[in-house]
Parts: sequence; structure tokens; C-alpha cells
Amino acid sequence: MGTDALSAPQQAAIDVIETFGAHNYAPLPVVIDSAEGVHLTDTDGRRYLDCVSAYSAMNFGHRHPALVAAAMDQLGRVTLTSRALYSAPFGPFVESLAALCGKSMVLPMNTGAEAVETAIKTARKWGYEVKGVAPDRATIVVMRGNFHGRTTTIVSFSDDPDARAGFGPFAPGFVSVPYGDADALDAAITDDVVAVLLEPIQGEAGVIIPPAGYLRRVREITRGRGVLMIADEIQSGLGRAGETFACDREGVVPDIYVVGKALGGGIVPVSAVVADADVLGVFRPGQHGSTFGGSPLACAIGSAVVALLSDGEVQARSRAGGARFRAGLQPLLDQGLATDIRQAGLWLGVDVAPALGAASDLCHGLMARGVLAKDTHGQTIRFAPPLVISPGQIDEVVGHTLDAFCQADAARA
Ligand SMILES: *Cc1c(COP(=O)(O)O)cnc(C)c1O
Repeated sequence: MGTDALSAPQQAAIDVIETFGAHNYAPLPVVIDSAEGVHLTDTDGRRYLDCVSAYSAMNFGHRHPALVAAAMDQLGRVTLTSRALYSAPFGPFVESLAALCGKSMVLPMNTGAEAVETAIKTARKWGYEVKGVAPDRATIVVMRGNFHGRTTTIVSFSDDPDARAGFGPFAPGFVSVPYGDADALDAAITDDVVAVLLEPIQGEAGVIIPPAGYLRRVREITRGRGVLMIADEIQSGLGRAGETFACDREGVVPDIYVVGKALGGGIVPVSAVVADADVLGVFRPGQHGSTFGGSPLACAIGSAVVALLSDGEVQARSRAGGARFRAGLQPLLDQGLATDIRQAGLWLGVDVAPALGAASDLCHGLMARGVLAKDTHGQTIRFAPPLVISPGQIDEVVGHTLDAFCQADAARA
């Protein structure tokens, strides 16, 4: 698959990055200089449609005016106090986020992995103090194929060899079951189990949607067995899957929501654990914290993000846009160029037919046509454009995608 040659300045910029930056990512060969809405512009002035959205951290598009205004206003007041002091934007943020989630308490952190760690600590402490689990016995059931972040504890229960290998010793206290299999989950619950941690749709695994009714059964099982249900909605939430939360697709309310990514509006990292006071109330002063978590700047932006989600318009756009995108890609399945397409809102996983090559080759072909999308797990392309993408822009992405697949098909002959 041919791609346009990189300009000398872009190649030079990449060389510096690859020389001095650690090699923990394999980026597309493009150096971004500016962005607005659904568009990214490289240092040569070439414009691309963004279908990565910084792994769904940019749900509202680049430099959304309301989010930039909230940030600018807060930059002119105070940006960080630490939690040693109360700050004015903190209250409105936690109150509005709790309301969005239908819960009564919020614990703000920064990155997604930190919020997952916070949820794990919450569940363990709840297990010992409320459920009465014996000391150091608390167990959390997780799902095969999960992705919850990169800390040492979290990679301990990953089954991705790249995420794990070389990073042991691993933390105990987790058992994993096949994703989508409610009976296996039920069978894994012992007296020591305090929580089930899952992504309602697995993002990094390739937009894997569990069978219909699965989340409802997880809810019934966890409720029946006195175990917390923790939904990691860091990537699936805040409109991405066509609802405020992917759990809403089945009308399920978990005990704990873990949110991040888009909560920071793509400006600063903002994450949070959201639950009722009978769960999050286990923390007392000194038992958990973060210097930057809940900073005034984060809270001001987080409040503006919650406001953008409050009338349901973004969620409706995600649903309608996603359906249009999915319908547009149907020829890929009909012609055998893709082996599966999974879609929830403006979130699509397209499995490239192996004969066409690797998904990364197709992503290079898309880039040459002005669409930035990234492969995940070898054979899948994930499309996650900003939710503000217009129907016309969706059609543009679909057209380029069909072209890129057809060219890959022609090239193999
Ligand atoms: C991205 C992601 C995380 C980790 O978030 P970071 O901000 O990168 O630490 C955790 N869970 C899910 C489902 C994610 O997609």
C-alpha cells in the first residue's frame, strides 16, 4: 500500500521524536501542528479528518469553544490548590457529574488508570468494611481481553502479552473470566469476591460488544451475590457509544462508574470514580489522594463537559452518525473485504479481511486519503471520530474507507 512521501521537515521532526522519545507507541507518520473540530492539520499544512479522537478523549472535537472558554476563564483565576484547600470550581463539578451519573458521590483523579486503581481500592475497602471479607482476601473478577490502563496492578490482570511481559511480579487478587459469558462470571463468584470490573464495550480489544442481555445479567448476578459492579466507561462513556454511558444501552446502572478520557475535554487529564455514598464513603482523610486530582482547572473543564452532555444532543448525534457510518461500510462486508464490523454510536471496529494485509496497512492507505484512523490488535481498524462530525463528513470518511479497501484488494491481485 503506497503512501505519500513525508516532507523533509516532517521526517526530521519524527527522527527527533524517535531518537529522544521512548518507543512505547508506533504512531502514524504524521506530525500534527494544529486542530479544530474534526480536523487535524500537519506541519506541512495538510488537513486530515480525525477518526482517532485521541482514543476518544476528543469526543467534543478539537478546541470546542465552550471548553476552551471554560479553560481560559479558569487560567485567569487559579489553576491548582491541591486538596489541602477547597476550591470554588470543585463543588459545581462533583455535583454536576454525580447528577449525570445518577449517583451521590464523586472522587476526581487525573488519568484513566488512576481512576481504575481508585475503583479497585474502593471495592477492596468496601469489601473489608461493609461486606466483611477476611483481611487481604478481597478478589475482583475481571474479563478476558480487558484494557484498564498501564499501572503495575492493572497490567497484572491483563491477558495481552505486550502489556504484561517483562513487568512482573504481578499483583494478586484478580480472577478473569471470558467476556460475555454470564454463567462463567456467576461460577467465579466466591465469598471473597468484592467486585466485578468490566468494560461495557471493550475498546482496545477492538470495539467488542457483549451479547444482548449480558450487562443486565451481570447486574442481576452482582446484585444477587452482594458484589459491586464496576463499569469502566473511560472510553465507552460520555456519548461515544450513543448514550451517556454504554451501560445505558441495556438500562443497567452499575454500582461504580469509572470515567476519564473525554471528561477532560481533550485539554487536561480528568478522571473520576462515581458511586453512591454507601460505597465511596469508605474513604476518610489521608486514605487516598492525588495532588492534581480535582484541580480548579480540571473541575472548570469537567463541569463544561458535563454541561455539553446534559441535553442528550451529543448522544443523539453519536447514535445517528454511527448508524450512517455503519450503513456506509456495508459494501466491505458484502464484498468480503471486511470479516466483521461492530458499531455502537460513533465507535466502529472493522476487521480487515486477512488477504488484504494488516489493519495498519489500511490505516496508511486511509492517511494518504486524508483520514486518520488507528489499528488495534493487528486486524481491526477502530473508527472513533469526534461526535461533532457532520453527516457529510461521515460520508467523506466512508468514501475514503471504501476506496482504501478496494485499492488494497486490487493490490493483492
Ligand atoms: C484508555 C483507557 C484506560 C486508561 O486511561 P489512561 O488515561 O490512558 O490511563 C482505562 N480503561 C479504558 C477502558 C480505557 O480505554
